Amino acid sequence: MGEKIIFATGNKDKMREIREILSGIDAEVLSMGEAGVLLDIKEDGQTFEENALIKARAVAGQVGGIVLADDSGLEIDYLDRQPGVYSARFMGEGTSYKVKNKALLNRLLGVPKEKRTARFVCAAAAVFPDGEAFVCRETIEGYIGEQAAGENGFGYDPIFYVEEYGCSTAELSREQKNEISHRGKALRGVKKELEKRLGQKGAAV
Ligand code: IMP
Repeated sequence: MGEKIIFATGNKDKMREIREILSGIDAEVLSMGEAGVLLDIKEDGQTFEENALIKARAVAGQVGGIVLADDSGLEIDYLDRQPGVYSARFMGEGTSYKVKNKALLNRLLGVPKEKRTARFVCAAAAVFPDGEAFVCRETIEGYIGEQAAGENGFGYDPIFYVEEYGCSTAELSREQKNEISHRGKALRGVKKELEKRLGQKGAAV
């Protein structure tokens, strides 16, 4: 287990998820804090891909090893794909999601179901010690319901509904959501690339 993988987040839930997904990989997985990195990163990219790379490169400038980062958000088609990359900052970072979700429901009041399409997007990036980068972008398609439902998940989950389950992503179990979510799929995409690279490295030794 020579390689170190640092995930550019201070969020405990994300760390648990990334550890679950990367289990079985021949490397030590560390959070930014565990790697001794203290950084306030300005996410000023225009796309999820840019922001994921900004975060990963900022951390890679401070530590050795492979650095992973992700950036995600909600796109609502009727609102010209808002809140998009501003999902966390929408109405201010300190505003509760109860209030943010209610405001979005109000803006969609009377809009028929076929025009309420939306998706969660996640870009997961890996920056390697040689400076090369890999980004995987994935989505989960759904629609904004007429009311909030469910207690699981976080953020916009109570108003985001998936057709195949007929409920909001806040009504799914963690396992169900990981299986189909934008983040689960993007992180598994990065895992495949890591396996390829770590495998090649192993084979070359
Ligand atoms: P970041 O990727 O940590 O920058 O956060 C993006 C923001 O998008 C979160 O704070 C949430 O508002 C929203 N978001 C991203 N993924 C999800 C999800 O799976 N459920 C609910 N909200 C999400």
